[in-house]
Amino acid sequence: MASGIEHDNVIKILTIPIGVLIALIFKAHIGFLFGTSFLLTGLWLSPDLDTISRPLKRWGILQVFWWPYRKMIPHRSFFSHGPLIGTSIRFLYITGIVSLLTILINKFTSINFSLDIKTVKSLINQYPKETIALLCGAEASAWTHMFQDMFPITK
Ligand SMILES: [Zn+2]
Repeated sequence: MASGIEHDNVIKILTIPIGVLIALIFKAHIGFLFGTSFLLTGLWLSPDLDTISRPLKRWGILQVFWWPYRKMIPHRSFFSHGPLIGTSIRFLYITGIVSLLTILINKFTSINFSLDIKTVKSLINQYPKETIALLCGAEASAWTHMFQDMFPITK
């Protein structure tokens, strides 16, 4: 198994080349979005959020929101480290947490904070290629992680 530092280093090393490659194949902004998603999800939404890990600690005090996730998902299980399913579950989980917080903020404070699903759907419909670039960047990051866990680089 690769260590947290090794996971971080590979994500950081691959971000620019993979972003440039995608930019050359598609368009510059698609490569930028892909690379940015690859980097950010690799560091903050890693499959290793299922355990005490560097990505978890990056959340600071907000890591408390990942406690139920860690209790429900066994470390290195198919549900955190499986292709497509791991990233999907993490995105759904964080969307659920944000939705719950939105409801609580609106119910118990005078702040009128709205998470408008229609706006999100409209953005996805308006920018489908960009949405796909963001999602593929996140999934590529997870695949990089899974590959490293299967075939760790030995020094
Ligand atoms: Zn892992």
